[in-house]
Amino acid sequence: MDRKIGLEEHFAIPDTLNDSKGFLGDHVWPELEKRLLDMQEYRLSQMDKHGMQMMILSLNAPAIQAIPDVKKATETARKANDFLAAEVKKRPDRFQAFAALAMQDPDAATRELVRCVKDLGFRGALVNGFSSIEKESMVYLDDRRYQGFWAECDKLGVPFYLHPRNPLPSASQIYEGHPWLLGPTWAFGQETAVHALRLMASGLFDRHPKLQIVLGHLGEGLPYSIWRVDNRNAWTKAPPRYPAKKKLGDYFRDNFHLTVSGNFRTQTLIDAILEVGSDRILFSTDWPFENVDHAADWFDACPISEADRLKIGRTNAERLFKLL
Ligand code: MN
Repeated sequence: MDRKIGLEEHFAIPDTLNDSKGFLGDHVWPELEKRLLDMQEYRLSQMDKHGMQMMILSLNAPAIQAIPDVKKATETARKANDFLAAEVKKRPDRFQAFAALAMQDPDAATRELVRCVKDLGFRGALVNGFSSIEKESMVYLDDRRYQGFWAECDKLGVPFYLHPRNPLPSASQIYEGHPWLLGPTWAFGQETAVHALRLMASGLFDRHPKLQIVLGHLGEGLPYSIWRVDNRNAWTKAPPRYPAKKKLGDYFRDNFHLTVSGNFRTQTLIDAILEVGSDRILFSTDWPFENVDHAADWFDACPISEADRLKIGRTNAERLFKLL
């Protein structure tokens, strides 16, 4: 399929480059480093070769979220956003942008989101999970301090991409002795799925019914589990013990979009389509951690209707990010 749009597509600036070191093994670091720092050459050649019209770009992970010095986090986010804006300006037909935000300072993050959307023309924000304000702290986005941020995000009408990060060592007891379970193998999905459930259960979407959160990796396992989340022991007729008014699955179907980033599996895609519908699923690769051809070759040939391929490959993104 031609003219696909992807929206989990990363780059790094020198300040954040080393955050991506160690995820994929040292033997591929020279290649990964090249991919992360390149914007207009190798990236575009891959897109051209495999039918991608556009990438909506975002900074690598955990980057801003893992900088405990609040001032430095805010400055680094601004620097990355200014760099990205200048790169997008060179090829706005091929690149658009998500804001990096230092959620460590909710007011500054809100101002930066407004600046990025209104002044720089960004399409939304991508944040890498919880934020570390002190070295061992984890502040999740359902925290009360973010009420003003979410209100502004809703007002601007831009989607918010909740991207994974690893849990802190202090919260990783379950992975002790099994480091291979960290990162994309398992811990990313676990961490991000729980974060998304926290948002749903908190009542955030009762206050902001139009707010749209994007999850990668075909929903971080949630399509497979969301029915059980709501059904658990239905015979007891016990009401759910959370502030939100509806079933969590209702929010999942009304307030979430899912991308296929890094999860190029037809069986999983079909399950996601059955749970949330093909209007809420979008193509993505997870470049540069995954290959564009691995995503594109699978997606172009996977057995779904051509109508769904068009929606997932392009038109859902055009609508969600107002690209036309
Ligand atoms: Mn990613």
